[in-house]
Amino acid sequence: MPLIDGGLHTEVCPAGCTSDHSSDARGAFLEDLVHLLGGEASMTVGVEDGVEGMVQLPVLRAQIQVEPYSPDARTRVPHVVLEPSAGEVVSGLGPVELAAVIARVRAHCDRLDEVLAQLVAARTELLPSCDASEPGAWLSDSK
Ligand SMILES: [Zn+2]
Repeated sequence: MPLIDGGLHTEVCPAGCTSDHSSDARGAFLEDLVHLLGGEASMTVGVEDGVEGMVQLPVLRAQIQVEPYSPDARTRVPHVVLEPSAGEVVSGLGPVELAAVIARVRAHCDRLDEVLAQLVAARTELLPSCDASEPGAWLSDSK
């Protein structure tokens, strides 16, 4: 690959690299070279967008990658780039840091289970006594 700051470089991808290096082949800085390892783990959550209606936004997207010439030593070895929500990125997560994130997500899912149980209880208690098709009906009926 031609280097933007001069010269040519021949890079051998690590086993399992899934990067499309076509843009690198047109010229790049060596420190920007990224090898992706394996596929991306991601899920989406539907969110309401005022313009487009319901849109699916990725959350907790994770990708293992290595940037062998990065100035950041954490990213010169295989690491995870985590995108907790669209457009927000945390780079350089090693196994200990990723395990901590996973533990927090699991704990949050436990909390979401509690919210779910509270929601079911609230609906069971409040909805039978009102016509939910009327705006604000359950508020006035629940007093
Ligand atoms: Zn590669």
